[in-house]
Amino acid sequence: MIQADLHIHTKYSFDSSIDPKSLVDQLYRHQSIKAIAITDHNTVEGYRKVRELTSAYSDILVIPGIEVGTPLGDLIVLGTDEAPPKPWDVNDLIGFAEEKGAVVIVPHPYREYGLGSSAKLYAVDAIETLNGSTSLHANKLAEGLAREMGLPGVAGSDAHKVDELWTVRNEIQASLNVDEVLKAIKKGLVKPFSTGKSIRF
Ligand SMILES: [Zn+2]
Repeated sequence: MIQADLHIHTKYSFDSSIDPKSLVDQLYRHQSIKAIAITDHNTVEGYRKVRELTSAYSDILVIPGIEVGTPLGDLIVLGTDEAPPKPWDVNDLIGFAEEKGAVVIVPHPYREYGLGSSAKLYAVDAIETLNGSTSLHANKLAEGLAREMGLPGVAGSDAHKVDELWTVRNEIQASLNVDEVLKAIKKGLVKPFSTGKSIRF
């Protein structure tokens, strides 16, 4: 069992101030969080930087990912260390993820840049039912969507500043291994929970 934050932005996202070095320092010192996914907007550069900084540590897992802006809303692809080819259409992204053995998550479906109920039209793998920078109400709606679609729910802090890191987390039945984590998410072996410090709770 590991604790993981599956939605983090570094300063390689246009709207985040999190420096990869301070992220790695905080992660290394953290008592319970040992796994993070880097999900910068439309780039994997932040992931590459963080990965480079953590390469010396064996007890930390950095999951490659990207939060892609599609015309319908944002989609997170976890398990890719390269950006999907454009144009970023939802079905093309799902096909890209399938080829890579990656996982497609609908982040904050009922917030700005969320897919909303149109997520039901697509073969995504999971719904972000607990987003650290989203209202309780919108997160509840996301839980309902996951239930309706019969999909696992996951948590992500959506941190854009250092003090927003891992405010919400997942307990995942996996070891510190990217493939195991991705498989566990697909199987729903994930339990999202809040630390009570999430941004708008
Ligand atoms: Zn985000």
